[in-house]
Amino acid sequence: VVIIGAGFGGVAAAKRLEDEAVDVTLIDRNNYNTFQPLLYQVATAGLNAADVAYAVRGLFRRQRRVFFRQGVVRGVDWNRSEVLVDGQQPVPYDYLIVAAGAAVNFFGVPGAAEHSLPLYTLEDAVALRNHVLGQFEAAEVDPTAVEQGALTFVVVGGGPTGVEVAGALAELIDKVLRDDFHDLDVGRARVVLVEQAGVLLAPFSPESQEYARRVLGARGVEVRLGEQVAEVAADAVTFADGGRLATRTLVWAAGVQAAPLAGALEVDQARGGRIVTEPDLSVRNHERVFAVGDVADLDDGADGRLPQLAQVAMQSGRHAAEQVLNTIARRPHTPFVYVDRGTMATIGRRAAVAELATGTRLTGLVAWLAWLVLHLVYLLGVRNKVSVLVNWAWNYLTWDRGPRLILGRGARPPGASE
Ligand SMILES: Cc1cc2nc3c(=O)[nH]c(=O)nc-3n(C[C@H](O)[C@H](O)[C@H](O)COP(=O)(O)OP(=O)(O)OC[C@H]3O[C@@H](n4cnc5c(N)ncnc54)[C@H](O)[C@@H]3O)c2cc1C
Repeated sequence: VVIIGAGFGGVAAAKRLEDEAVDVTLIDRNNYNTFQPLLYQVATAGLNAADVAYAVRGLFRRQRRVFFRQGVVRGVDWNRSEVLVDGQQPVPYDYLIVAAGAAVNFFGVPGAAEHSLPLYTLEDAVALRNHVLGQFEAAEVDPTAVEQGALTFVVVGGGPTGVEVAGALAELIDKVLRDDFHDLDVGRARVVLVEQAGVLLAPFSPESQEYARRVLGARGVEVRLGEQVAEVAADAVTFADGGRLATRTLVWAAGVQAAPLAGALEVDQARGGRIVTEPDLSVRNHERVFAVGDVADLDDGADGRLPQLAQVAMQSGRHAAEQVLNTIARRPHTPFVYVDRGTMATIGRRAAVAELATGTRLTGLVAWLAWLVLHLVYLLGVRNKVSVLVNWAWNYLTWDRGPRLILGRGARPPGASE
């Protein structure tokens, strides 16, 4: 069994197969699994990058029949049943599970791909942290940079990711950087959350939406609803109504599409490029091939499509693995049925919204604690859980954020040349 992608879906599939009489090869471009729900905390210096990632080989070190290969998959040779990996020998398969996830969608907005900062990978999160901290260092050296938007941070997209980033940025600036940069008028910093719809957190109830808007407002985030980004430049964002805002930081949290690999496979694709699947999750016209998670177009059983969420990816990954076992055992395939346990989003310290499948709605401290516990439970690796817990406790008690480092090649002091 070959699995493309070691994210939530791919790892769940491999875990389901690890004790069965099959050889499993997981392929991923990275040698680690990323816990995307906590990327925003890496981007806002709450957590270390290593806290939210886990080496794939470490996950299966005791499973002698699970293999890993680091490589970029470019396509599949359907006639030869081989996965084509960039610069490597093809990998033959009997069964294939495509779990390549999603990629950022800039919806063709001019300048967005060149000038905005997405938050989808671990590198994105570290790049955003470097950039935000770098803007403060630049403003400290040259305070006139503030007028040019150095301390204006625009987040586009009012879904859970945009809300989380905006809330955490406002907190970082107000509670941490204000003291760090005591020579700078940090009060001039702005966090602006832009959403083209009339509400934040569209999938949530109106009460939760209103709560999120109120809490963000109280924490200093300027929420602009019904506003559409028309163009992005290095130093400004222009809105559809012609308005312009000077900024050097535009965080793109406005949408995703299926990973580009979906297009390279030459299979049927639905909205957002997602791979069309049959009820058992097999890919149309390819009965030994399955697509799961964000890359797949999954039926919600009520004429809609399932959202691109970690739970959907994990459950569908497990289901596809079970269909492989059914085929081997000559049992009939079963349709995928998603068990919805609810959704949640955090807005900042002691503030979150949670809506459970039972209809229970939680806000505030209780929802925030539920959010913390759930994320700890699903985070891979005991070391990571302990590290995240210690970091959270430390941040909570001291308002001090350890990993506010400007790291990596290309991160240079203000004005310095190569
Ligand atoms: C910032 C952010 C916050 C989120 N917060 C939440 C949340 O709070 N709750 C929630 O339920 N969901 C959240 N999500 C969504 C959730 O993370 C996804 O639904 C989930 O990761 C999907 O799992 P997946 O296995 O389909 O894809 P992923 O987990 O994205 O895994 C895909 C894997 O495929 C690999 N890959 C892709 N293309 C190739 C290729 N060509 N060759 C080799 N490898 C490849 C990638 O490197 C990656 O490891 C969030 C997402 C983001 C970006």
